[in-house]
Amino acid sequence: MNVIRFGRIGLIKRNATHTKNIHRLLFNMASREILKPYEPPAWAKHLKYLPTKRVSLACSNTPIHEWNLPGIPSDFSVSIKRDDLTGSTLSGNKVRKLEFLFADAIQKGCKHVITCGGIQSNHCRAVAVAARQLGLQPHLLLRGDLTDAGELGCEGNVLLDRLCGAHIHLVPKFSPYLTKLKPRMEKLAAKIKSETGEDTYLIPVGGSNEVGVFGYINVFQELLEQGLAERFDDLVFACGSGGTAAGLCIANFLSGTGVRCHAVKVSDSADYFHEHINQTLRDVGLDLEVKSEEIIDIVSGYKGIAYGVSTDEELGFLAEVSSTTGIMVDPVYTGKAVRGLVQELNKNPHRFKGRRVLFLHTGGIFGLFDGRMDAILKTEGSITDRIHLWPDPEGDPS
Ligand SMILES: *Cc1c(COP(=O)(O)O)cnc(C)c1O
Repeated sequence: MNVIRFGRIGLIKRNATHTKNIHRLLFNMASREILKPYEPPAWAKHLKYLPTKRVSLACSNTPIHEWNLPGIPSDFSVSIKRDDLTGSTLSGNKVRKLEFLFADAIQKGCKHVITCGGIQSNHCRAVAVAARQLGLQPHLLLRGDLTDAGELGCEGNVLLDRLCGAHIHLVPKFSPYLTKLKPRMEKLAAKIKSETGEDTYLIPVGGSNEVGVFGYINVFQELLEQGLAERFDDLVFACGSGGTAAGLCIANFLSGTGVRCHAVKVSDSADYFHEHINQTLRDVGLDLEVKSEEIIDIVSGYKGIAYGVSTDEELGFLAEVSSTTGIMVDPVYTGKAVRGLVQELNKNPHRFKGRRVLFLHTGGIFGLFDGRMDAILKTEGSITDRIHLWPDPEGDPS
């Protein structure tokens, strides 16, 4: 029989049950340190579901500063809240939601997490990074049209998923969440349970449910402490699965700031997002008080050809923003949202409550590294058409 030493616990005879118990003990000790108490803001205390714990993943508070965005009408001012700076590989808006989702997973004793998204999903990458930092196993269902696992490259977010050693399952591109992805996530969880005896936590697409919504309820409190209500009239952000929008507009309603929320959608339809937010209102017990349609403006018209698909003009816009302001926006979310913001300020200025706009940057930087920018930056006349070769002069002795 092997004998192993476990710190202060002393000598332990190794057999399967003992080892398992020790692992459970160490895991419980570790999770008590990871879990931090969460105190919801006073205006949120009557919600039906209230988390009591969170884990700390985001570098916060993220800064707010002025943003000299090109093409803004002169009577408007735009500032930016930098939630792209919530971390490096663990950055963007998903980290905010994961602080609550992982706390829930750890409290439930889960050792694995499963989630799903597109191949270049920022959400899946954040889950993979957070899971490894917290000692859980990440499993990702990635949607794409691959027929051979060997075709999966190392671009953008996929590089980080792979560096994290995430268990990656490639599923067909057309896989709606409820009918295809969720059943597969449940099947995989059952398989993990039967093979290891361990429990798995399922995170829905984008981390957008009644737990994840607390990410942006919590950020709203941070915004209030940063003077949102006094300094700004309108809050604008990208909307993909609706969780960020739900958290912000619910918190805005509850705290009564009078700021107007505008969600620029980059997928689905306005009806879809109102339904998602109305469902969240039911989940938190506010559906009799208010409807989504009364607390958020869903801005349509900037999705482009499709979710995740960009025209050359849209990709060119990213380079225009970065080369004039030094702030990178991503092709899938923030680039389309900022384009929507600039166009709406010009075409529909009355859509905005006032003249002081705050844009929430939700991250997505690794989407810029998926390879699509190459062609745009290499065309003649692009901003990188400023590259000069400067060889040594002929006969230079040095
Ligand atoms: C996921 C994501 C969004 C959209 O947030 P939702 O809560 O899913 O609507 C916006 N920006 C970036 C960079 C994202 O990764």
